[in-house]
Amino acid sequence: MTINPGRREFLASIAAVSLFPLEEEQLELILHSGNIVTVNSREPRAQAVAISRGRILAVGSDADLLHLGTANSRKIDLAGKTVLPGFIDAHSHPAMAGVMHLRMVDCDLRSISAIQAALRDRAAKTPAGEWVLGFKYDDTKTSDGRSLKIEDLDAAVPDHPVQIEHRGGHTAYCNSLAFQKAGIDDKTPDPAGGKIDHHPATGKLNGRVAESAREILDKAIPQTLTRDDHREGVKLISKMLAKTGITSAHEAQGTPTDLLAYQDAHEAGELLYRAYCFINYRYIDSMIAAGVRTGLGDEWVRVGAMKLVCDGSISERTARLSTAYEGRPNDFGILVMAEEELYSYGRKAHLTGWQIGTHANGDVGIDTTLRVYERLQRENPRHDPRFRLEHCTVINDDLVRRIKALGAIPTPFSTYVYYHGEKMKYYGAERLNHMFALRSFLDAGIRATQASDYPPGEFIPMMALQSEVTRTDTKGNVWGPKQKITLEEAIRVGTINGAYASYEENLKGSLEAGKLADLVVLGRDPLKENPSTLISIPVERTMAGGRWTFEA
Ligand SMILES: [Zn+2]
Repeated sequence: MTINPGRREFLASIAAVSLFPLEEEQLELILHSGNIVTVNSREPRAQAVAISRGRILAVGSDADLLHLGTANSRKIDLAGKTVLPGFIDAHSHPAMAGVMHLRMVDCDLRSISAIQAALRDRAAKTPAGEWVLGFKYDDTKTSDGRSLKIEDLDAAVPDHPVQIEHRGGHTAYCNSLAFQKAGIDDKTPDPAGGKIDHHPATGKLNGRVAESAREILDKAIPQTLTRDDHREGVKLISKMLAKTGITSAHEAQGTPTDLLAYQDAHEAGELLYRAYCFINYRYIDSMIAAGVRTGLGDEWVRVGAMKLVCDGSISERTARLSTAYEGRPNDFGILVMAEEELYSYGRKAHLTGWQIGTHANGDVGIDTTLRVYERLQRENPRHDPRFRLEHCTVINDDLVRRIKALGAIPTPFSTYVYYHGEKMKYYGAERLNHMFALRSFLDAGIRATQASDYPPGEFIPMMALQSEVTRTDTKGNVWGPKQKITLEEAIRVGTINGAYASYEENLKGSLEAGKLADLVVLGRDPLKENPSTLISIPVERTMAGGRWTFEA
């Protein structure tokens, strides 16, 4: 913005992008004297943003914008602070995590005895016979150097069935009473796409179940959460996300219950981020029958992609790989759904206008998923299907070429290198140069996103930026340095690319006239920061739709 017209001429000059009749336009708020990183290549930097009715009316210099206000316009002096577009977490499980934080024992603790104590504590407050549930347990983050065993859980809580989910969400650890309730004993065979682990010497259950075997347990756990609990969960996680600068999140394994919780929370004024709510494939028939498809909803709550799951997880080392895990020559990971099953669900969704997002971590999982997408497009070409590869972790040149050819969108884990460094050794240095492969994606012109996968990964956007730019973990180990990207690139990945992944690039992801007023004010300028301290930059304020959702 270089011109300096009077208010009316100025408003007329932007009327093309203004969404409201000119006469009614009231400038509600002007943020000025800031260092505004717009992520708009036509005008990358600005000093001021004018906001009205939740949208950006203009972006420009202080001189251009400050005189536009009326007596009713509020002016906020940013005092040189840096402003970025609000961050978009393109793969996370916030609604699910919200109710977990409400109801379950947070097992993100550093020893098995600390976990036992927390479980004992909860059991003491829980009527005998009722389930004690935990989440965020991570076998690689306890000081004991071994995994939780059935004996640990039996010793801590003998009179309640116990199930502790691994942080990755694909495996769980149970006590004897839990197995009893689920009808699982030493002889129960593994279900298709799942595993029930046994002590190698005795053949007895060792407590761990993986992938589809978890469903046997899930069926035994009474579903006691109410509609209100789900709304409360969204309210709780809303505050957690807003604090870190997130203004939009894609609920990557959503259900009709989550979709309802989002609507309830929004109506109650408690939803602080915009939700793009995926729908798990198990619910797709009823959604299609109701005439629902991707895109239905509004700027706050929108129906996202149909979710399919191809293989296992990275943090729990069950992703399906073409070459075995380091030190485990016979372990290639798990394929969860068969290719034909992915295709038949995919076809239904593809033909009815749904975007499809398939969880695919290992190179075999990604290859399988791409084959399904390629077949869908070959048989029924659709304009701009924006197929998504959820995680898309371990890649090779051929996979990258096919992703580009399809125009597909990978959502690689943004914080894993930094936060889950201790797991990287299972993949090995060479493979790490082909994992969370943002450099390869961006070089190929692929629009990869920022994605936390919370709870499995941390959702803090500044951690994501640091992890992507430095590829360095908390102990200073560098993993896969060939995949480093620049900070400017990482910011785009965390903003406009996330908007593209939900077909909303014209609505958000950058700060420009006509877009939603979603932004974050930082305590220091990340572009002037040492990349290894990006995570320490404080988020001072977060705004979504012109309203502060967080103020430090
Ligand atoms: Zn996920």
